[in-house]
Amino acid sequence: MTRSLQENDGSTVLHGTPAVPGVVAGLAVRPTPRVRPEIGSEPLAESERAAQAETLRQAADTVAERLRLRAGAASGAAAEVLSANAAMATDRGWLGAAEKLIATGTPAAAAAITATEQFAALFTKLGGLMAERVTDLRDVRDRVVAELLGAPEPGIPTPAEPAILLATDLAPADTAGLDPKLIVGLAMSLGGPTGHTAIIARQLGIPCVVAVEGLDEVPAGTDMLVDGTQGRVILHPDAEQVATAVAEYQVSTARAAQWSGPGATADGQRVEVLANVQDGAGARAATGSPAEGIGLFRTELCFLDRESEPSVTEQAQLYRQVLDAYPDGKVVVRTLDAGSDKPLRFVTHPAEANPALGVRGIRITVRDSGIMDRQLDAIAVTAQGRDRIPWVMAPMISTVAEAKSFAAEVRDRGLIPGVMIEVPAAALLAEAILAEVDFASIGTNDLAQYTMAADRMSPQLAGFTDPWQPAVLRLVAQTAAAGQRLGKPVGVCGEAAADPLLAGVLAGFGITSLSAAASAVSAVGAALAAVTMDDCRRAAAAVLSTADPRAARAAAAAIIPL
Ligand code: PEP
Ligand code: MG
Repeated sequence: MTRSLQENDGSTVLHGTPAVPGVVAGLAVRPTPRVRPEIGSEPLAESERAAQAETLRQAADTVAERLRLRAGAASGAAAEVLSANAAMATDRGWLGAAEKLIATGTPAAAAAITATEQFAALFTKLGGLMAERVTDLRDVRDRVVAELLGAPEPGIPTPAEPAILLATDLAPADTAGLDPKLIVGLAMSLGGPTGHTAIIARQLGIPCVVAVEGLDEVPAGTDMLVDGTQGRVILHPDAEQVATAVAEYQVSTARAAQWSGPGATADGQRVEVLANVQDGAGARAATGSPAEGIGLFRTELCFLDRESEPSVTEQAQLYRQVLDAYPDGKVVVRTLDAGSDKPLRFVTHPAEANPALGVRGIRITVRDSGIMDRQLDAIAVTAQGRDRIPWVMAPMISTVAEAKSFAAEVRDRGLIPGVMIEVPAAALLAEAILAEVDFASIGTNDLAQYTMAADRMSPQLAGFTDPWQPAVLRLVAQTAAAGQRLGKPVGVCGEAAADPLLAGVLAGFGITSLSAAASAVSAVGAALAAVTMDDCRRAAAAVLSTADPRAARAAAAAIIPL
């Protein structure tokens, strides 16, 4: 966990997790608080109940209309979140549950709260993506309750001057409605770099730091600097600190803009820089970046909305689009990572108390290997006649036997087999597992989740799932070393590969490729190009003797200046 630090010059530095790069200075604002109605014990008189139900419907309509208007003014992920929340406000199930309560004498605001909690409990039980919707649900509830009580709509204020927004965590609807001309920086005491807020802030280009310790005590009106690149918030910075931080950021952005690949350190040691994609459109977009190929094609994301299993021919058409984007480049296709936060309707998922520890990834083959066999057939069809044979890897491998049988299936079809290392057991057995396959790719998102026993979706636990956690870095180092001993490539394709400072450390461990969102590729490639392999190795050794993420970042930064 990070700690705040009083500097000599009167400024205070609060540390967090970098979420969206960029450096901005300004005054802090905070969201308008949410109102909580007094819930009395007196039931409503019979005669008032119909009118209360009507008032609730009107309040829900007003809130939905406002959200729809904001959705119309937004675009991309922001527009989607706002439209989904507008639909939630007038959802028949939710309104019906509240109306039932009103019919038994519960006042409208209390009924809205109780009905929401019934749905929240259900969504939480379902887990994964449904559980993530609970924040949206409660946000809609708060807007409806404020409307019923005639209170101001909770959420983001409209500052007179561009300002920095501080919050514990933002409701997706609040983040989606942000105006980047007015809210120029974001700092949150909770939240993870892969959460909703960070994703939308990234889309809006608002520098953002999450999981900032000590932020809740910082009042509105404080002058501050938000450094979304290094993951820090400086309170009361002096002019020189602001100028230095802004200049450093400008140098690194200019360096990234000029970098055109291929990936290598300053002394010419190759480290491939690749892109993560989820479909053909993403792969075509990646060709506009300096990415040399695709390091992770998340095939399950093509089918999240599908009721039934796509045919081999249809799958082949989709996969072909991705391979066609890089006809001469490397493409790593991952077999379906169904389950947990990405359930697929055409894969039978047992009811599980802990889906992240359940039947997901390669484990779906325990019940029925048909889905994976047909997917491999589809990839093999797509690969026919190509100069470059696609690499195919399985998610969630945890035993040598799984790696061995997967490799046999993949080789039978003339493809190149590999595995993802994202379960600590696999990292610990990396050498034995790698002996069975031709390559490995480390999924640091899940590796951090399972090593730290901390849900990667939990905003409260973002500090634990930080890839700079020394325990996670040790497993990464161990896996890379196993790859070097066997002369087999080991890449990283989790969010860690998008962190320019960590890129050098990973290269120093012996990682042979880094695969990240296409938007992060330039910064990662440019950072690698600015440092020698010798320095990468020194930084790698230095982080391994640290005891927490902050010390690990500092140790790396002392050797690899960004
Ligand atoms: C990972 O776990 O790091 C990874 C790349 O897989 P996903 O994020 O799709 O689970
Ligand atoms: Mg994973």
